[in-house]
Amino acid sequence: MAVPKRKLSRSRTRHRQGAVAAHCAPTVATCPRCKSALRPHTVCATCGVYGGRTAVEVD
Ligand SMILES: [Zn+2]
Repeated sequence: MAVPKRKLSRSRTRHRQGAVAAHCAPTVATCPRCKSALRPHTVCATCGVYGGRTAVEVD
């Protein structure tokens, strides 16, 4: 099996991880009713609205 010739330096690893983190930032949408941040295509955890109507009753 092919094996890397040298250990990857901490700097190289962190440079790559920084690029990955910048590229894979999570998508954030805003709730149309309460304007709180939420993932797209999910029920709002604050007011329970989805697609313009109340999908879940939140206390
Ligand atoms: Zn909401």
